Amino acid sequence: MMPVTQQQAVLASGNAGKIKEIQAMLADTLIVPQAAFDVVECEETGCTFVENALLKARNAALQCNLPAIADDSGLIVDALGGAPGVMSARYAGWGASDQDNLDKLLQVLADVPEGQRSARFVCVMVFIKHAYDPCPVIAQGVWEGKILTHQLGENGFGYDPVFWVPDHQCTAAQLSAEVKNSLSHRGQAVQQLTRLVKANGVF
Ligand code: IMP
Repeated sequence: MMPVTQQQAVLASGNAGKIKEIQAMLADTLIVPQAAFDVVECEETGCTFVENALLKARNAALQCNLPAIADDSGLIVDALGGAPGVMSARYAGWGASDQDNLDKLLQVLADVPEGQRSARFVCVMVFIKHAYDPCPVIAQGVWEGKILTHQLGENGFGYDPVFWVPDHQCTAAQLSAEVKNSLSHRGQAVQQLTRLVKANGVF
């Protein structure tokens, strides 16, 4: 009997949490992190999350010759016209730490009153069948909140300690990983993408 080869997709991310989450939902597909193929990462030169996610997916698909999944995410603050947006990871400059970025955000928003501190996390996640797939599957998750004037909580990463989650009356950094995943922009995008991939029968 011929051996059955499992379908595979490369994930353009090294984040173990993302890999686990996506693998659990796309159980029929083996999700392989791009590091396993020594993928050389590309520059994120897009102006939008969707452009950057597609750049990363195409880069991984090209180097691995496999279908690819990639995401791009960040924080949008209304009082800052959408900043830091696609610059979220390097808001305080190249090589900035999470704490540097967070300090800059608090400083920039220092004079912004309580009622004008609305913000949201956004995550765009894409799936392409191959590097030149003209019809990518695109999912987007949005998590609404507001930016506090000080840090609260120890969990999570990035801007979590200043991101207030109104429904839970705490910051994202005060939520457990399980609860955060069930609410977050990334959790929503993963769920939506897996639903769309399955519904479109792209594999
Ligand atoms: P990435 O593109 O998903 O790696 O995320 C870009 C940047 O957005 C991160 O370095 C963080 O600064 C910020 N970010 C994205 N998602 C989150 C989150 O869930 N919590 C806090 N910060 C986040």
